[in-house]
Amino acid sequence: MIPYKHEPFTDFTKEENKKAYLEALKLVEGYLGQDYPLIIGGERITTEDKLVSTNPSNKEEVIGRVSKASKDLAEKAMKIADETFNTWKKVKPEFRADVLFKAAAIVRRRKHEFSALLTKEAGKPWNEADADTAEAIDFLEFYARQMLTLKDGIPVESRPGEFNRFDYIPLGVGVVISPWNFAFAIMAGTTVAALVTGNTVLLKPASTTPVIAYKFMEVLEEAGMPAGVVNFIPGSGAEVGDYLVDHPRTRFVSFTGSRAVGTRIYERASKVNEGQIWLKRVIAEMGGKDTMVVDNEADLELAAQSIVKSAFGFSGQKCSACSRAVIHEDVYDEVVARIEELTKELTYGDSTEQSNFTGPVIDQASFDKVMSYIEIGKEEGRVIAGGTGDSSKGFFVAPTVIADLSPTARVMQEEIFGPVVGLTKAKSFEEAIEIANNTDYGLTGAVISNNRFHIEQAREDFHVGNLYFNRGCTGAIVGYQPFGGFNMSGTDSKAGGPDYLQLHMQGKTTSETL
Ligand code: NAP
Repeated sequence: MIPYKHEPFTDFTKEENKKAYLEALKLVEGYLGQDYPLIIGGERITTEDKLVSTNPSNKEEVIGRVSKASKDLAEKAMKIADETFNTWKKVKPEFRADVLFKAAAIVRRRKHEFSALLTKEAGKPWNEADADTAEAIDFLEFYARQMLTLKDGIPVESRPGEFNRFDYIPLGVGVVISPWNFAFAIMAGTTVAALVTGNTVLLKPASTTPVIAYKFMEVLEEAGMPAGVVNFIPGSGAEVGDYLVDHPRTRFVSFTGSRAVGTRIYERASKVNEGQIWLKRVIAEMGGKDTMVVDNEADLELAAQSIVKSAFGFSGQKCSACSRAVIHEDVYDEVVARIEELTKELTYGDSTEQSNFTGPVIDQASFDKVMSYIEIGKEEGRVIAGGTGDSSKGFFVAPTVIADLSPTARVMQEEIFGPVVGLTKAKSFEEAIEIANNTDYGLTGAVISNNRFHIEQAREDFHVGNLYFNRGCTGAIVGYQPFGGFNMSGTDSKAGGPDYLQLHMQGKTTSETL
């Protein structure tokens, strides 16, 4: 088998790639505004009640109208998934992996179309959309290979006269609840990790980005996934979420999203409901308040460039985004001045235009939340770039830098999930690491330093799931930098890592006397 290698990113400075992307945008524009059904047991079901997905760069543009699952339809999907589990769990791992390999090939052939749909539905700039699609392909390729390495279990010892085996078997029905910010990669990755390990799935995508999820369902079907293995039940998390999480036949929940919803799911899933014969497993990937530390012995240009890119790529709407920087007092003024300069040079606006570095935030609620944090930031610190927003056509917020903050300011502690970065000063490297660790989260972080002792100190003491040196804190690659955080950032799992699939299975020991 060809060894795993991550999907390369597209170079949009090349004319032919630019042309191909513009054509893909046209192709997607040709099918905007269509209706999409639920898919339960392979059956298309249309409901009156719809989610209306719109373009965050242009709220008048409807991406699609997607039927919404009611509790009754969620129950129907659960029954089908539960029944299908009895057959799917017996299907050979090689067959299941082949579905993923084929799906990866289909997506790769239509790569720009999927990315263009992300540009329209999630407001992703071209390169960010391209990276989201590449990551979806990576999850398919990586988890398929991982399953093949686990299919014969893990060797254990046997004494003379006995034969012991340790195998992994699937869990049952998994409820997969995904976010809008990696509307393709995370939705696809969490879904296929569950299905390749032999489970059946109820997929509830984020309500702001359901069309890309429907398109992925079509890919899985084309790749040979049998009906009923993944059931597509979009709908409001607040309306059907509790029902799915509480259901006695739910065996596990794979959730990616906010801390508030993640902790709610964790609590509810811990309750044993009537008719339930297991303890549910929860895989939760939640928020972050990710910090970049700048040492006094450091490449200051690299520091400023990395902070700006990590803070404002996809308008800061990444769980890994740099939302705060802690800068050594010796170099604070210089770095802050350069961050200000670079931020003021950034272009933002309609994400379909390649010239814009970044696009809108996802919706009105997000726009209002980000703007309210900017107001808080004006009280708590000094706004040196941005600080403005306009939601008349799309949800645009200027990349915003707030300097001179206290490490405990709200802007430095709470996840804003928008294009806002807070800056603070530290007296020493030790103090900088202490400040970096002073939130409830522990997802990503980065240290810009030329001091090897400080790098080693950070490796030990900077408590985050993904720590980077002399680069930004975003952009983890499947299979290269397994991704997931500590503390309130989740259940310590690592998507795209060597032990991720096992979270969807249980180990079974058999011992035969010979
Ligand atoms: P969110 O509001 O928590 O929504 C995530 C998903 O949960 C959506 O599908 C949502 O459905 C659903 N949901 C809402 N209420 C629910 C309930 N009561 N029960 C069950 N499901 C419910 O998060 P988001 O705004 O989409 O995503 C942004 C957050 O995700 C940020 O905090 C970010 O840091 C985090 N994130 C973390 C990672 C990671 O790997 N750690 C990766 C990406 C994002 P609706 O859309 O219908 O509300």
